[in-house]
Parts: sequence; C-alpha cells; structure tokens
Amino acid sequence: MILQTLSGPVAAAREATGDSDVAQITQLPNPPLAEITADDIHVRRCRLAGDAMDTQFGCFRSHDLQKLLELTHGAPALIGHNRQSVAVARFFGGSVEEFGGHRYIVPKFYWPRAHSAAEDFRVLLDAGIISEASIAFTFEKPSCSICGKDIRECEHEPGAHYGLKLCHYYYDGLDRVLEGSFVYRGAEPGTGILSEISDLKKAIKGRKTITVRVGGRTYEAIAPLTQ
Ligand SMILES: [Zn+2]
Repeated sequence: MILQTLSGPVAAAREATGDSDVAQITQLPNPPLAEITADDIHVRRCRLAGDAMDTQFGCFRSHDLQKLLELTHGAPALIGHNRQSVAVARFFGGSVEEFGGHRYIVPKFYWPRAHSAAEDFRVLLDAGIISEASIAFTFEKPSCSICGKDIRECEHEPGAHYGLKLCHYYYDGLDRVLEGSFVYRGAEPGTGILSEISDLKKAIKGRKTITVRVGGRTYEAIAPLTQ
C-alpha cells in the first residue's frame, strides 16, 4: 500500500445543520457516546479530491469517487497533521459534486460546540484563516495513464507528453482514508507526511519510499526529498 496526502479548499458556505446530519453522525462506526442534536455541533464542508489531475500528476478515476467518499466517512480531522493532539473534527456524509468541469468528493465535517476551542476553530475557518483540508489515504497501485502498468515500473514519465497525451497516473486500489487535517492559508498542498515532496515524478520513478506506521498498520509512503 502507498500512502498519499491531498489537499482541497474548505468550502466557505455554511451548512444548515439538520436532522439528516445528526442521523448520519449517529450511524458512524464508533458513534458519539453521548446523544447529540443539531444544536450541539457545527458543520462545514470541504472539497478534498477529485478526478482532475493534481499537482503531483495523480488523479482518481471518476467511478472511484463514491468509494473514496465512503472511505472518508468517519475519518478524524486534525489540525496541521499533529497526531499528538486530539482530533478536532470528524468527516461524515457529503456528496460527489461537479466543479470546474471535474468531479470531487465534498465530505461534511462536524465538531462539538461544547469543546473549549470550538468557537476559535469556527472563527478561523469562517474567516478563511484555516482554508484547506487534506486527507491521507492509501492505495495499491499508481497506474500509468498511457500503458496501464504501475508507473514506477514502466518507461513513461508523469508530466511528460506522449504525442498529445500528458502522462499521469491513477490512484488505483483505494484502501483506507486514515485522517484528515486542517491547515492554514498558504500551506502547500500535500502538507503532512508528504510535505516536502515537490517532485513526485522523481520520487515515484526512483522508488524512494519510506515505511510509515499509522494506526498500528505499516504503509509505504513516498519519501520526502532531502535538501
Ligand atoms: Zn506507462
């Protein structure tokens, strides 16, 4: 399995928290222990990942987006990928939506109003200070868009043109969504474990990978570039 992290904007639009949100939250795996009502939580949305090519020349297949959204259901959200801190929010529900000619997963996320930092978090989100959310997910195979083989093993280079076709790869064999994270405006897409990757082409072709343990399981991740 390969670990990848992608970022997307937090949608500015507020969601009216309704009964259907609460119903979805209470049906999560490991649901809230205490009963919650719509008045107990804040809900927002974010556009996380889609079938447009990302800055690392990867993209999801359109027909995998619904599965990705389902894998995101229940994932915890942290601030700044700080795994030493308690999760601040949790993803749930959402939809697959069109944007700019592509399709994206737009999960919702909620956090409890009673948390001592809940209002600070809400203000930072709604003021656009915290403007991006990202998810870390695992997948089996980066499939070459030109030949369909594992792009680490074929002769094609992500980002290069072959005739009129731009070579990229697909995130195939989606496995798990491990966590989400909220990051401050100005943070580079792909913050977190993969934050230093600016040249995935080199990293992925060179098979520079590291082993990462998350949640008791071991994953292969693309190694950060060393300066
Ligand atoms: Zn290829």
